[in-house]
Amino acid sequence: MNETKTCNHCQRELPLEAFVKSRKSKDGYSNLCKECKREIGKEEYRRNYATYISRLTKKREEPEPETRKCLRCRKETTGKFYRFYRSDLNGNHSIYLCSKCYKKLFSKNS
Ligand SMILES: [Zn+2]
Ligand SMILES: [Zn+2]
Repeated sequence: MNETKTCNHCQRELPLEAFVKSRKSKDGYSNLCKECKREIGKEEYRRNYATYISRLTKKREEPEPETRKCLRCRKETTGKFYRFYRSDLNGNHSIYLCSKCYKKLFSKNS
C-alpha cells in the first residue's frame, strides 16, 4: 500500500513519508510536507526576528570601530555594524547586527 497525502502548501500529492508526523492530525501526519514545513519555518523565523528587532529597538546606522558581537550570528567582527537600542528596566542596551545579518533580516527582495 502506498498512501499519499496532498500538501496544503505546495498542493503536491506525496507519499506519507514526505510529511511531518503530527499527533494533532487525524492521520498522524501534518498537512504540510517536510519541504514546505522547513521553508515556512525559516520564513517565519526570519520574519519574527525582524519584527522583534524593529519593535524593540530604534535603528541607527553607525560604523563601529571596536569589535562587536553580532546578536544574530554571534560572530565578532570589526566591520560595519548596525546598532540598535533597547530600553528595559535595567536601562539602555546596545544591540549589534553585522551588515550581513542586517541585510538578511531587512532586505525586501529575499
Ligand atoms: Zn509541500
Ligand atoms: Zn551577524
